[in-house]
Amino acid sequence: MAAYDVIVIGAGPAGLTAAVFTARARLRTLVFSKPGEGMIHEAVSVGNYLGCDGWSGERFLAAGVAQVRKYGAEVLDAEVVHAERRGELFAVKTHDQREFEGKALVIATGESYVSSGVEGEKAFTGRGVAFCVACDGPLFRGKRVAVIGNGSYAAEEALELLAHTKDVAVFSNGREFELSPEFRAALERAGVPLRKEQVLAFRGEKFLQELELEGGQRLPFQGAFVALGTATAFAFAYKLGLERGPANELVINRDGETNVPGVYAAGGCTGGNAQIAKSAGEGCNAAVAIIKRLTGKKFYVDQT
Ligand SMILES: Cc1cc2nc3c(=O)[nH]c(=O)nc-3n(C[C@H](O)[C@H](O)[C@H](O)COP(=O)(O)OP(=O)(O)OC[C@H]3O[C@@H](n4cnc5c(N)ncnc54)[C@H](O)[C@@H]3O)c2cc1C
Repeated sequence: MAAYDVIVIGAGPAGLTAAVFTARARLRTLVFSKPGEGMIHEAVSVGNYLGCDGWSGERFLAAGVAQVRKYGAEVLDAEVVHAERRGELFAVKTHDQREFEGKALVIATGESYVSSGVEGEKAFTGRGVAFCVACDGPLFRGKRVAVIGNGSYAAEEALELLAHTKDVAVFSNGREFELSPEFRAALERAGVPLRKEQVLAFRGEKFLQELELEGGQRLPFQGAFVALGTATAFAFAYKLGLERGPANELVINRDGETNVPGVYAAGGCTGGNAQIAKSAGEGCNAAVAIIKRLTGKKFYVDQT
């Protein structure tokens, strides 16, 4: 598997800005985007980002994707469900089970944290409720465990859990399941039930003991992994050991680097102003630091 120089997870203002810099510096750059996801899709008329007065978020995005592609970056419509360090490289896995490796990783997935909204999530976190199978899966060896989520990320977590316990169920929490055929088949083969009921509450004394479902039914479960929606920066933080701030934002330095060398973060996932200019600025900071690091140059000069 040929390694990319830079893998960017997220194709909003932060990720695309990082990519335009690294691509113009002739670093082999791969950007992942989950179609239709991200705050930028919701902006109707952007009036405060220079040069784009009145543009819709969609127009901004289309122009940005075209620009990074023009300079050689690849933009792939695929959801990243897993990320890990592999020696000197970082490996990511997508919803359709493909793997890619990069020398540097930029997390630019927008807002960082999706709560399950289930009563008791906070109280039982660390007492049965968890967020990362790679980190906490071994604590649930042989136990009955639920995964709360309806997409590829939940499927990935459920399959990973099987290494620790065979008693795993996925609850979509009242939503439709949105699974790739590969994930659906893998879950079926492993005998993991897909349940659509809504989970109202996590119940127990000191530790999680039961899930309370809509209608009041209570089921014995000693573990629950929250894996709603797309894998967020919050999930990648767990998997890669990244430091988080009080609002679960990723902590970065002035170069956009996290506490794990080679992993950078930019935009909504680092907290602060939810603005395009802030996201783009952080994408630029991360990219310039990566360019210096990978090319060994002290100064960044765009000579494209
Ligand atoms: C209604 C509305 C109006 C707004 N108006 C303005 C405005 O006028 N001016 C302004 O400056 N800001 C505005 N904003 C805020 C602005 O949209 C955000 O601050 C900005 O989009 C954040 O950029 P970002 O790149 O950090 O994240 P996002 O724009 O949220 O992009 C995140 C990207 O990550 C991708 N992604 C996430 N998870 C994964 C995964 N697991 N695998 C692969 N890809 C993934 C998504 O597909 C998306 O491409 C507005 C926001 C809203 C909601």
